[in-house]
Amino acid sequence: MLERGEVANSWRRERWDSLRLLTPNWQSRLPGLRYEGLEPDGYMTMREVTEFIERFAKVSAAPVRTGLNVTSVRRSGDGYRLTTSAGEIAARTVVIASGACNQPAVPALRDAVPPSVEQLTTLRYRNPAQLPDGGVLVVGASATGVQLAAELRQSGRPVTLSVGEHVRLPRTYRGRDVLWWMAESGVWDQRYDELDDLTRARRLPSPQLVGTPERATLDLNALTSMGVELIGRWAAVRDGHALFSGGLRNMFSLADLKMVRLLDTFDEWARDTGRDSEVGPPERFERTRAPESTPLQLDLGSGEIRSIVWATGFRPEYGWLDVPVVDAKGHLRHEGGVVDSPGLYALGLPVLRRRKSTFIYGIEDDAREVTDHLAGYLADAG
Ligand SMILES: Cc1cc2nc3c(=O)[nH]c(=O)nc-3n(C[C@H](O)[C@H](O)[C@H](O)COP(=O)(O)OP(=O)(O)OC[C@H]3O[C@@H](n4cnc5c(N)ncnc54)[C@H](O)[C@@H]3O)c2cc1C
Repeated sequence: MLERGEVANSWRRERWDSLRLLTPNWQSRLPGLRYEGLEPDGYMTMREVTEFIERFAKVSAAPVRTGLNVTSVRRSGDGYRLTTSAGEIAARTVVIASGACNQPAVPALRDAVPPSVEQLTTLRYRNPAQLPDGGVLVVGASATGVQLAAELRQSGRPVTLSVGEHVRLPRTYRGRDVLWWMAESGVWDQRYDELDDLTRARRLPSPQLVGTPERATLDLNALTSMGVELIGRWAAVRDGHALFSGGLRNMFSLADLKMVRLLDTFDEWARDTGRDSEVGPPERFERTRAPESTPLQLDLGSGEIRSIVWATGFRPEYGWLDVPVVDAKGHLRHEGGVVDSPGLYALGLPVLRRRKSTFIYGIEDDAREVTDHLAGYLADAG
């Protein structure tokens, strides 16, 4: 196992200070290690996640070589040749587990923003003190965007949140964490080869969730109540003005509808499996409140917006992969983690084999199936 940084590097170096997992502690489990503390329904801080993964490295006795950067992987004979910061390595098979979130996915709009406005991506963001005083525009209303909009608003700044397609979820439903429902009802176990639209499932934004000791729901209504101003999807910059789409109301209706459908699925599952008595009564939530009127543009030169935080998602980085298996959009070509080159595998990508593939909780099942395939490949190759 080759790691350019330290064990749990992404959790140590690429997350903001206040972040807690959005998956509950009982879902922090890896083969041979599970959370055994006093708060199974709590959410780990970054220090706790780092300790958990360090413990896993010990428990699993994984042969990790840290501080070793892989700068090239290429096909060589019936295997691969790797160039690393500590020399060349030959391998019959390679598993790419380099992460799905190595770099921020920022739209080209950023190049048109006047230099007077500071810009920050979420990989660089640590806390509000990094930003100048004054108005902040947070772009993107998925898990990261809603969390940072709330934190920046609480720091006293005026915050505008640009909202595109999003996935709304309550933190708890009928007394249980919503991720309990996802896991128990089988939604998270839905397999990649059974989904109607796999491409869409793989691009779905992360749900609007936050892990807090209060188990609070952080949806757009909660943000509105905190004083965050909601605005449409950022579409263009013209003459120093940011232009936003209208149609917030439609976007809210769609997200509300999808949430209700998911809750219906949960209710149906509880009824059909006789588990109604384990949970509270069905709940329905207030629809997302649309502002009376939303501005369609902001003058980026007026001083009203002093900084922009891009919470527009992440993408993997494969600059070091010299095997032609990455498509024009930067996605690895693979079938359930079996990459389109003999003996090359991947783990930890969105809906790799199941909806839960990118979560700590989801890796065990995927890893077992992918390594089974790998072992079969080596056996066949003799
Ligand atoms: C903001 C954020 C919040 C998240 N919250 C949760 C959550 O609450 N619960 C949850 O289950 N999941 C969460 N996730 C998903 C989380 O990323 C995964 O659960 C998990 O970290 C994925 O582990 P990984 O090992 O696949 O990838 P990573 O953690 O990204 O690890 C990949 C490793 O590969 C190393 N690497 C990359 N390229 C090279 C190279 N060329 N040479 C050598 N080493 C290299 C990197 O340094 C890194 O350490 C979150 C993700 C983000 C971005």
